[in-house]
Amino acid sequence: MHIDLSGRTALVTGASRGIGRAIALALGASGAAVVVNYRGSEAAANEVVAQLTQAGGKAIAVQGDVSDAASHDGLIKATTDAFGRLDILINNAGITRDNLLLRMKADDIDAVLNTNLRGVMLLTKAALRPMMKNKWGRIVSMSSIIGLTGNAGQANYAATKAGLLGFTKSVALEMASRNITANAICPGFIETDMTAAAMTDDLRAKALERVPLGRLGTPEDIANAVVFLASDAAAYITGQTLAVDGGWTMY
Ligand code: NAP
Repeated sequence: MHIDLSGRTALVTGASRGIGRAIALALGASGAAVVVNYRGSEAAANEVVAQLTQAGGKAIAVQGDVSDAASHDGLIKATTDAFGRLDILINNAGITRDNLLLRMKADDIDAVLNTNLRGVMLLTKAALRPMMKNKWGRIVSMSSIIGLTGNAGQANYAATKAGLLGFTKSVALEMASRNITANAICPGFIETDMTAAAMTDDLRAKALERVPLGRLGTPEDIANAVVFLASDAAAYITGQTLAVDGGWTMY
């Protein structure tokens, strides 16, 4: 199957590093024009844009904090001003503020909810109008296996990632008649700054024991699934949750 996204424009949140960076590069390699959103890592976002444009693609970097709803219209406008349309929204940006619930501060709950859930809901809402105009749209949101199973020390994060699944199904139902699909991906343990910060060697070994495929995932493993869900090849798939986890959730 050859996936061709030429003529499409994608907005990828949190695309300066990690999974979002790999998604931006993969969508660009498939022909989409890409808006590389970042919060603070400007140089890294510019490097992603340089890689995309050097390969002959179209890309811009746009700063914007997804937890700040006031930035959303600017993000959408920057996308449509640069490329004339918005077809694909990848809600990838996400944060952790881990602690046991007994010790978790209200700020840690608010920050994670605002970025991982409220921000996704309001940015998706803002993205629907240009997609409805095109009579075509793809929304892919980055949940987590932790949203399926829960995790001690991540009650705030797990709640947002589980919340995204219900949100995705609701948007899928509301938008089906408009030819806009919404799906969620649940990555397993993927090698990025996020996991490097949280994982001791011991935790890493324990995680590996639970992965039937015998390795941690790469950002490219996730990006491949995103490109498929963002394409015409996935036209009959909506409201679904796809675990890309090396088989972790079978246990
Ligand atoms: P990461 O390495 O920590 O990178 C996070 C990215 O999100 C960065 O580009 C960062 O931009 C951006 N970001 C953070 N807060 C933002 C905000 N408020 N507004 C805009 N951008 C923001 O994370 P990752 O591991 O690639 O994870 C990406 C997504 O996958 C997250 O939603 C995460 O929950 C999910 N996930 C990851 C794993 C895993 O094992 N890594 C597993 C399951 C799910 P700046 O650098 O500019 O701040």
